[in-house]
Amino acid sequence: MKIAIASGKGGTGKTTLATNLAAYMAESGSVVLADLDVEEPNSGLFVRGDLLVGETKYKMIPEWRGDTCEHCGNCQTVCNFNAVLSMADKVMIFPELCHGCYACSELCPTESLPMKRHPMGELKHFRAGQLDFVESRLVIGEEQAVPLIRQTLDYLSAGFSEDVPWILDSPPGTSCPVMEVVKDADLVILVTEPTPFGLHDLKLAVETVKHLDKSYAVVLNRFGIGDDGVLRYCEDESIDLVTRIPNSRAIAELYASGQLLYPVVPAVARAVADVADFIGNHLTGRRP
Ligand code: SF4
Ligand code: SF4
Repeated sequence: MKIAIASGKGGTGKTTLATNLAAYMAESGSVVLADLDVEEPNSGLFVRGDLLVGETKYKMIPEWRGDTCEHCGNCQTVCNFNAVLSMADKVMIFPELCHGCYACSELCPTESLPMKRHPMGELKHFRAGQLDFVESRLVIGEEQAVPLIRQTLDYLSAGFSEDVPWILDSPPGTSCPVMEVVKDADLVILVTEPTPFGLHDLKLAVETVKHLDKSYAVVLNRFGIGDDGVLRYCEDESIDLVTRIPNSRAIAELYASGQLLYPVVPAVARAVADVADFIGNHLTGRRP
């Protein structure tokens, strides 16, 4: 029961929906919320709890051994990610670019590139009542989000039953990190806003989830600004529009002060209830 909350672009209210939905659902049962926007996780600004686990996550990268290297250049040739530079007198590794594929290490004729652990981020697990909150954060300068996302999903798989709803706060956009989160989801909720930018990026996000053959639906945030392009698009494409969250100064002020919205703003309470009902109906096969 994995629900990915995604969006074609940042700043549409994806984290607002994920945190409020998770906290709302945790009032009636166990819920897991995971912030997988590892380059810039911010669900923790709104969800607090007791820290249960804090651990460093590692990826494997090669380490050059100059004493045995024969300077054949093979490592640079086989690396598809430009993470190895083989020069006349030494080999340089760029850990930020390395995907840990082992190719250079395995194909080095003199075993001069043994793989070593390299810290790439931190994972933290908090608990607040029936809500388990897991977030991972990439080390600054680290460029590979996917390995940390994968390890965070592995952490969830090892620790939580899939009978419990998992709310996965995805990275924004339509690139590899989003794919990594969305590819195993049972349902993808795409959050957008009623502007030409919002519509443009929603279309890209829809193409992505269609490509992955995922069930999906749309939540329209900041309803009241912009135009009706998103409404018309959803209608024309027969896309489920689950709910609309109104644009409001009160919501913006509460968000800026790091508060959950649904306990205070009735319109948000209705919206998260709509989404929770939609998820329940979808997963039991009773499409609204
Ligand atoms: S493949 Fe091995 S021996 Fe060849 S340049 Fe790279 S590290 Fe040196
Ligand atoms: S492990 Fe793979 S990605 Fe990393 S440097 Fe070697 S060949 Fe390149």
